Amino acid sequence: LSQIYKLKSNQPVVWFHRDIRKSNRFCLYCGQDFYDATNNRESNKEHLIGREFVPKRSLDNGQDFNLIFRACKECNARKSELERHISSITLVNSSACQDDALALDSAERKANKDYHPDKKGVLIKDSHEKHSISGQLMGMNISFGLTSPPQLKRKYAEELAFRHIQGIFSMITSSNPTQQENTRWLTANHFDVFGIYKESDWGNPQLQEIISRTSDWSCYANINTANGFFKVIMKRDNKKNSGWVWAIEWNKSYRVIGAIGTPDIFNNLPELDWRRVSPTERVRTDTPLNDTQDFLFNASVENI
Ligand SMILES: [Zn+2]
Repeated sequence: LSQIYKLKSNQPVVWFHRDIRKSNRFCLYCGQDFYDATNNRESNKEHLIGREFVPKRSLDNGQDFNLIFRACKECNARKSELERHISSITLVNSSACQDDALALDSAERKANKDYHPDKKGVLIKDSHEKHSISGQLMGMNISFGLTSPPQLKRKYAEELAFRHIQGIFSMITSSNPTQQENTRWLTANHFDVFGIYKESDWGNPQLQEIISRTSDWSCYANINTANGFFKVIMKRDNKKNSGWVWAIEWNKSYRVIGAIGTPDIFNNLPELDWRRVSPTERVRTDTPLNDTQDFLFNASVENI
């Protein structure tokens, strides 16, 4: 690990330059070499945390952390599509909207104009899920209906988490992103998502166990930006050298946790109390955090 290239306090980290040869040499998402003149893939400026991803104005003062770099136009466009959906769902479901007028305003705007990728022609605001559950309970036939709030498209959430972690991983492991030998980026085969948790389930016993197993790992990134609407932590197991654990929190409403490499922290986790309610459906009760349990983002960053 090296010092972060172009790190200044109270400013975004900027690796982008209008001159391609002064920007990061490789696309941090796909590894495209921008210095290679035989490549005709177009590139442009990318913000790791899209300004539209978080509530209005939370990244506008120019003092908050972000990573700004050169990416292929294609990678950039795909990431915008992912961010658009994840931003809508995470803001619509965010408890921050209860006392934050800007968050509420952004959530309403998105719910009213963004379509759900799984439901053709259905706006986020109308995308509540209806389930009907029927089966046998203690010998009686039962049947009931449930409505749940607009749902996150899991594949999009995994892909966006990968993009965000790719950016942070390159940032903390590349000593000079304009030089091939000093650039590192993360490829999909080293990347795993373990779980995605909504706020009502942040006390999930499996998640809590993973946090406790990794509490003494060395922390190399602990980012809290956009007024707390975007958080990332990355820790490495320096004793066994088995890999990294990472966690992201989006819009104070969803957390995603996963690994780089093959740490053994996901084996033999506590059982969750799943109950089968029909041949195809099972339910369990969410476990919210209590006030003293929230350790996920408590760690000081190693001196590098
Ligand atoms: Zn790319």
